[in-house]
Amino acid sequence: MDAVPGQKRVDLACVGFGPSGIALAAAIEECGDNRDPTGLTSRFFEARTSSAWHPNFILAGSDINHHFLRDLATPRDPRSQFTFVNYLKTNGRLYDFGRLGRAPSRQEWSDYVQWVAAQLAANVSYCDPVQQVRPRFEGDELVELSVDARSGPVSTTNLVVSVGAEPTIPTVFRSLMGDRVFHTSEYERRILGLPKTPRSIVVIGAGQSAGEAIFDLRQRFPNSSIIGIQRSSGFKLYDLSQFSNAVYCPPETDYFYGLPPSRKSTAFAETVRTNYSGLDAEICSALYQQVYEDAVARMPRITLLTRRAVSHVQASASAISLSVKDVNSDAAEVITSDAVVLATGFHVNPLPGLLQNMRSSIRMNEWGQPLVNRDYSLSLSGPSRVRIYLNGLCEHSHGIGDGQSFSMVALRAEAIVRSVLRSRDSSAERHDQSSSPELVSL
Ligand SMILES: Cc1cc2nc3c(=O)[nH]c(=O)nc-3n(C[C@H](O)[C@H](O)[C@H](O)COP(=O)(O)OP(=O)(O)OC[C@H]3O[C@@H](n4cnc5c(N)ncnc54)[C@H](O)[C@@H]3O)c2cc1C
Repeated sequence: MDAVPGQKRVDLACVGFGPSGIALAAAIEECGDNRDPTGLTSRFFEARTSSAWHPNFILAGSDINHHFLRDLATPRDPRSQFTFVNYLKTNGRLYDFGRLGRAPSRQEWSDYVQWVAAQLAANVSYCDPVQQVRPRFEGDELVELSVDARSGPVSTTNLVVSVGAEPTIPTVFRSLMGDRVFHTSEYERRILGLPKTPRSIVVIGAGQSAGEAIFDLRQRFPNSSIIGIQRSSGFKLYDLSQFSNAVYCPPETDYFYGLPPSRKSTAFAETVRTNYSGLDAEICSALYQQVYEDAVARMPRITLLTRRAVSHVQASASAISLSVKDVNSDAAEVITSDAVVLATGFHVNPLPGLLQNMRSSIRMNEWGQPLVNRDYSLSLSGPSRVRIYLNGLCEHSHGIGDGQSFSMVALRAEAIVRSVLRSRDSSAERHDQSSSPELVSL
């Protein structure tokens, strides 16, 4: 059955050991009978050196925007050893956290994520990006996948793709990415390489990361001018109403999944402001107050250029020049700066690059999106012994909670593990029936 004779084989291989992958590893440990390990053999591949959660954008004072009970395990089983509450208890902060009266900081959440990851490290290889996935066919039937990581290939019949969202880089900036033009996903690393006193830094975008970056840059560089450029008429608040937050709760998955495909994009668009292109009220107030107090002190430091789009960018040794146009009047101007931070967000690619060479085996809808079953497995076009699951990439099929959010990670992990167990059991049954004719005749 090996793709290559002697190649290591596991029941389940997972690409990516961020929160979605970690929650899956936890579910494999606890979803057997009586909450025992399932007995599935697994391998998790992570490109980075650790499972630190978005380590390049853990800014001072930032906190998580979901409820802490929506952690890597609690919604699946509050008695799990991998809950945030158990993390607090183990680290001697249960009562102290209770008195804190606010959400955990991003710093603390990253520490929690790493605490869980460390307990599950036995089957994880870090610094081990998966470069490609190769299918193996017997006749028409897809019988196995080879997951080709830097450390070597592993074969499996259950692949879970947990690669997260990809940074969105506007076309005009693509050729300039590097030390002076960078996305927020590289923020901490790149900021350290900037001159001590830049004259000005541009931040592109109008979402949470733009607000946080502008605020942070103003504190970090006391003599620099910070220029925000955004298409919209100004920062908009996230929709954080308790009522609209219901789209992150389990019944939404059944509702959204059951919608006719032609209705999904409209239904999705209506929920977008709960997670994208917005700013939370806290950072919005803090930023506004800062701009105001700078004006009172007659030392304006932050300039917000709204309704502007960048049409062209040119970099010379001494500066970066951005040609900017008003989106309504077309009035043009040129802004010069020492660095540009792209707070342009992320996008979920439901068919990541790794799966592109299997495109012809994956059924697609008329909008070019992969068809995904309710258990998060891809719908495949021919006979197959293989299952490929999308973990954290299913907002187009399952709704906004199944994209980049913690809300569903624990329950989704359980659903995937149970699906793998079902297919293992049914193929074992098929095998028993074909190899034990005496039993069949009973
Ligand atoms: C700054 C920031 C703050 C956020 N705050 C919140 C919040 O408060 N609440 C919330 O619900 N959501 C938040 N999010 C969304 C957040 O991304 C998700 O909730 C969570 O990180 C998703 O986990 P994931 O494992 O699906 O993706 P990721 O966290 O992106 O993890 C994917 C992992 O896959 C690895 N990988 C990718 N390709 C390969 C490959 N080929 N081989 C091996 N490894 C690979 C990556 O290195 C990465 O570690 C935030 C996002 C950002 C950027």
